[in-house]
Amino acid sequence: MKLYNRTRCPDSILKPLLSAAGRAVGARTGGVVVKVTQARTWGCSGQAWDWTAVRRGWLTGNRNHQRWIETDRGAILIRLPLVRPTHDPLERAERVYRVALHEWQHVKDYQRGRRDNYSSRRRPRWRDRPCERRAMAATSDALEREASGELASREDEILALAMWFEGEQDRTAR
Ligand SMILES: [Zn+2]
Repeated sequence: MKLYNRTRCPDSILKPLLSAAGRAVGARTGGVVVKVTQARTWGCSGQAWDWTAVRRGWLTGNRNHQRWIETDRGAILIRLPLVRPTHDPLERAERVYRVALHEWQHVKDYQRGRRDNYSSRRRPRWRDRPCERRAMAATSDALEREASGELASREDEILALAMWFEGEQDRTAR
């Protein structure tokens, strides 16, 4: 995974969590560009694109960075939520993991050449798009298999992020 971390959260917390999410849905994670930014909202969100290369400027925020960086058929953006004292840090961290599972399933589809095509017909509502349904199904499936012990649990990685959120809450409360 090629992590471009533009947040205060250390790579050592984000990288294990985000690459575990990719493995959990069965995507090839090795060469995929993942950018993480700090959202200006309370919610965590993500996005995935069927790309084979990413302009370095998109990752660094510097327009002068023109070089292209290869990515293994797909790129992911995760926006970490803002935390506030009333938020449950564990719930926030679990949400980040769920968003990551969802976006990795999109990348897995791209890697397999599976992509919804709406050029000839009307775009269905977001929830009805096959790729979105697959991403939602893959997310609950991975979480169920982790809960049942069929897949390794990601508790430690999620907890590490929760503790970081908690630290941020203390820091911003001061
Ligand atoms: Zn989606």
